[in-house]
Amino acid sequence: MSNTTRREFLASSAGAAALGLTGQLAFLPSAQAADVREKGHYSYKVGDIEVISIYDGVWQNDNFGGFAVDVTEDKVKGALTKAGLTTDYIPIEFAFTVIKTGGKTILLDAGTGGQLAPTAGLAAKGGLEAAGITPDKVDSILVSHMHPDHIFGLMEKDTNAQVFPNAEIMVGETEYNFWTDPAKTAQLPEGRQGLANRIQATFPNWDNVSQFSSDTEIAPGIRAIDSFGHSPGHVSFHISSGDEQLLLIGDAIIVPALFLANLDWQLAFDGDKNQATATRQAIVDQAIADNMTIGGYHFGFPNAGKIEKDGDGHVFVPAKV
Ligand SMILES: [Zn+2]
Repeated sequence: MSNTTRREFLASSAGAAALGLTGQLAFLPSAQAADVREKGHYSYKVGDIEVISIYDGVWQNDNFGGFAVDVTEDKVKGALTKAGLTTDYIPIEFAFTVIKTGGKTILLDAGTGGQLAPTAGLAAKGGLEAAGITPDKVDSILVSHMHPDHIFGLMEKDTNAQVFPNAEIMVGETEYNFWTDPAKTAQLPEGRQGLANRIQATFPNWDNVSQFSSDTEIAPGIRAIDSFGHSPGHVSFHISSGDEQLLLIGDAIIVPALFLANLDWQLAFDGDKNQATATRQAIVDQAIADNMTIGGYHFGFPNAGKIEKDGDGHVFVPAKV
């Protein structure tokens, strides 16, 4: 994480004496986690802002040996076991967030669109509508980064037709400039070129796309905070209203049982692994210092809670909402 970003994290918490969400959030017995996952959505308030989490399913990844750099399958399975998770696969859950603020309905990322794994895509298959959100009701969509599981929900599988044609789609300028630059695409590994090509065939041709800068208020109570590393321009979203705040960290930490418990592990598909590791450490330090409520795109339901120290590592404790 850059010094600038570190300062932004500090600035985000200055002035609020009681940091983190309090009140209706309480810690959640694990059986209830299954209940909200089954339901597919849940909502809570951050001050005056309504937050709705939308569950989009899970990718059952069996690449145990290649998921974390130089970490053996045994160690990965051991970390999953310690967290009470299955060892049949690495559960990469998907959940995105709807924010209602200033009279607007804003999506933070758009899900997998049912185009990644057979066990994901629940939002596009009625999950979003079940939460009362139809595409015509969405005013804007803020994109944390342009990986498939965050943007494929914006486009139909075969035609690339827009799913939310009436919404303003906003992407951080660093991320947008990277993925829409053919010169940078040429330097990407072959496995990533298809993604860049699809981005270049869609976003620049859509007339409802714009970019946002970090450290500015994009919508009432919503700011982007640079969290680079997972992708070149990855951002977190900081939600605040009154003295309550929530930090949605996107993919800065994927699968807390692995990468929060072991902050020195590196994720194989982080774009810049050293930068991503530094970003994770900075987020954890800030979240603990401020007792801040955080959420992650791949944390599983419910995806808001606290980071706590746990021996030499850390653990995510989801909240009851
Ligand atoms: Zn992701």
